[in-house]
Amino acid sequence: MTQQLGVIGDPIKHSLSPHMQQAAIAAAALDATYQAIHVTVNDLANFVVRAKQAGYRGFNITLPHKTAIMEFLDDLSPAAQNIGAVNTVIIESGRALGDNTDGLGYITSLAEDAKWEAKDKTVTLLGAGGAARAVAYALLDSGANQVCLINRTIEKAEQLCANLENLFPKKITYSEWTESTLMERFAISDLIVNSTSVGLNKSRFDLLPLESSPQHCLISDLVYTPRITPLLQSAKDLQRPIHEGLGMLLYQGAAAFELWFHQKPNIKVMKIALEQALEN
Ligand code: NAP
Repeated sequence: MTQQLGVIGDPIKHSLSPHMQQAAIAAAALDATYQAIHVTVNDLANFVVRAKQAGYRGFNITLPHKTAIMEFLDDLSPAAQNIGAVNTVIIESGRALGDNTDGLGYITSLAEDAKWEAKDKTVTLLGAGGAARAVAYALLDSGANQVCLINRTIEKAEQLCANLENLFPKKITYSEWTESTLMERFAISDLIVNSTSVGLNKSRFDLLPLESSPQHCLISDLVYTPRITPLLQSAKDLQRPIHEGLGMLLYQGAAAFELWFHQKPNIKVMKIALEQALEN
């Protein structure tokens, strides 16, 4: 029987996941199908029941349901519990297990695309939303020495810091978003990550003193539309190494594929499908 999979969200029609997952399924010659499924917050609980009854192998979850879905699942992986969000559900023997591959996807992309390892590194992370949460957790879990959160709304950075401090004592701090703080933090950073939505559709930060970062500092942007965001362009102009956001999307999808099918997907094929979907 054809195995069913998909990605749920609201809205969902612009999701790139079906393109890369269908390509990976075809490359592995699996009898499976992966669809984008529009699910509203009020229909989340019902969807989980329907997916189990219909024999789904699993599904991905995107905005705005990554946290809300958690209460409707039977079990959660340590990563999902620690990040406080689920982006992948695996259904086995009628039970729905929630996992989170976003952080792993980011770390894998750093390693594969930028040849960069987090161990003992100092990081400045801009933003304190859902993506920041997954990335901060993954960087610290991979051995980063220090992660400093800087967010426009300082209370959110404080909250995220408090949550992760229990897991990684003395390794995570937060600071206010001022020019002097940004300059101070950038000057000691090995990695600066943008996990805010600034950069989407070429939007720009009003003020970001990137020039105070050391020459070796990797500038990473989670935003991938456009692939070279204004932030990454500024980094290129300053001759800093850059890391694009598309890799995180690719490798979180690859990790989900592996959880469902217990085999590695063809990354090359997935990447080409993603790039083609983005171009269109
Ligand atoms: P979110 O939970 O809505 O958080 C948005 C973040 O952006 C908040 O920290 C918010 O700050 C900040 N922000 C928004 N406008 C800002 C501005 N003008 N100046 C400074 N900060 C601003 O969103 P999310 O899920 O974390 O996603 C953030 C971005 O990451 C998205 O745009 C998405 O493109 C990208 N992303 C990429 C991947 C990938 O696979 N590459 C995965 C997930 C997300 P406040 O708290 O002050 O509002």
